[in-house]
Amino acid sequence: DATSFAVRVAPLGGTGLVLVLAEDQTEHRRLEAVRRDFVANISHELKTPVGALSLLAETVQDASDDPEAVRRFTERMQTEANRLTAVIQDLITLSRIQGAEPMAEPTRVDLNAVVEEALDTVRMPADAKGIELVGSGAEGVTVMGDEGLLGTALRNLISNAVAYSPKNTRVAVSVGKSSSSVDISVADQGIGIPQQDLERIFERFYRVDAARSRATGGTGLGLAIVKHIMTHHRGEVTVWSKEGSGSTFTLRLPRPETGGYDAPRNTDRQ
Ligand code: ADP
Repeated sequence: DATSFAVRVAPLGGTGLVLVLAEDQTEHRRLEAVRRDFVANISHELKTPVGALSLLAETVQDASDDPEAVRRFTERMQTEANRLTAVIQDLITLSRIQGAEPMAEPTRVDLNAVVEEALDTVRMPADAKGIELVGSGAEGVTVMGDEGLLGTALRNLISNAVAYSPKNTRVAVSVGKSSSSVDISVADQGIGIPQQDLERIFERFYRVDAARSRATGGTGLGLAIVKHIMTHHRGEVTVWSKEGSGSTFTLRLPRPETGGYDAPRNTDRQ
């Protein structure tokens, strides 16, 4: 992509001089392209279930004298409606965090409660696959932040771990402290992620295998949401993965007592 400039000319009142401003448009154009892709992706992600719903409605009308067919097709309509709801919900979450200022009032968050609640929300799908859920190390550990958002980030990682793991494996959530951070890791023994996809999985709507993601009810937005939540907390999310053996995602939060999150923020707002 060639560098391009926008040139603005402004007369300097009364001096007979003009001011010439050259603005680099390359970054602007790149962001514009990202935005266009995102809008195109949203349209696609919303149109697909709506198209399926409309087709299914027609089919149900045609099959009105076959109760078994009606039951089957209306069940699929429910699935498509759920998918639509999930995409819309994730889009709302994403746009809320993306537009958010750095947190004004972070509160002290008890990680043990966050981990337990996140594990509870996946207990049913995990049981159905015989996946063992284990949590460790969170007792008595706190961080500064937004409890609801940290819960969302952890839930997204744990539900992916369950969704992308075969039967009778284990998903382990462990909390550990280093001198400067609190780390929450979610390790699975699942299908893993190919090396070449690792750096893209945090992009909105990026999926390694679109069919598999849809089959598990994925929206393709879960990890983008996690990434933004961590940025919002001045932390980061990292991933280690090996195809066929599993993945470990780690949420790294600055420790308040080292000045990380609580440091004055008015000088370096981004
Ligand atoms: P999705 O709704 O598709 O799961 P995400 O943003 O949560 O969207 O994840 C993006 C993609 O990263 C997924 O489609 C999947 O291919 C891959 N992925 C995420 N978590 C895991 C995991 N624990 N194991 C294997 N692949 C994963």
